[in-house]
Amino acid sequence: MSLEQLDNGTVEELTNKPENNYVSILVLRELESNAVFTTNGQDADLGTIGLNDDEYSPVLMFMRKQSGSDRRFAKSMQREMLDDVECTMDVNEMCQECPECVMYGSAASSSDRNISITSRVMYDTAYTLRDAKKIVEEKFQNAPGDNYSQETSGEEAMTGIREPDFVQPGTMFPSVITLKDATPEEVAFFLSTTMKNKRYGATSSRQGRTKNHILGIYTGGEEGPSNLAVTKKTIELLGEETVEQDTLDSETVQERVKQAFDQLVEDDRLDCEEVDSLEEVLDDVRENIEDYLESQEEKSREFVESVES
Ligand SMILES: [Zn+2]
Repeated sequence: MSLEQLDNGTVEELTNKPENNYVSILVLRELESNAVFTTNGQDADLGTIGLNDDEYSPVLMFMRKQSGSDRRFAKSMQREMLDDVECTMDVNEMCQECPECVMYGSAASSSDRNISITSRVMYDTAYTLRDAKKIVEEKFQNAPGDNYSQETSGEEAMTGIREPDFVQPGTMFPSVITLKDATPEEVAFFLSTTMKNKRYGATSSRQGRTKNHILGIYTGGEEGPSNLAVTKKTIELLGEETVEQDTLDSETVQERVKQAFDQLVEDDRLDCEEVDSLEEVLDDVRENIEDYLESQEEKSREFVESVES
């Protein structure tokens, strides 16, 4: 039972009174295909980050783009593994008693329950390590080609119709997700989802393919460093020229992101301690997720019943 390694940041029974038990999971999200991260349907979402000597414009992966995708994945995983769970992504129709609803939260719904459940999974907007001009491509439909013989149909074909900006494969987003007052089984559920979910951003079967590298699991009495702090520190460790590079080496970046997180924990003296063996925990989750989910199903249901009565 390597989940015992999580004891310091988890609860045995779900509680309705907030305590300060945190599990922070450090992930590097790496795009393996083009992806679309846009709010207005066309332009990639951009921010500005000040570095020591300079500033740059990262592409943003908003919280919702991460949590929405993970929730959808977690719900379908649950549907496969648990026999009697019927739940949906429709905010007004959620069952409010399955492991997913209880962990990720749900608003008062049209079910008989008169409760709303606060999410205990905290996401944070994630930032790319490189500047948008290196990783964002503007796409046009019907763009005029080189051929003389290409057919055109008026002005539209000459100028092209702009498609949403594409963020290129190889783009990386350091990302910390924190679970508060979660049971070890809920952490297992989250880890399994993170290992298996491979699509983020606007949904299309050919876009948004993502590899989530889990770099560390930390437990303790407070939250770990923010995505912004980890991103800035990683760039500092890699060198500020990183933001302008055409490509980045995944292995090197993974090492630096981990180093950045650990250094921030130390500098800020955070109560946030790394588990002894990450691989042991992940292997345990891979092998036993179905059992963990079954045991969590009971705990989640009992919790909702105790809140209602
Ligand atoms: Zn549910």
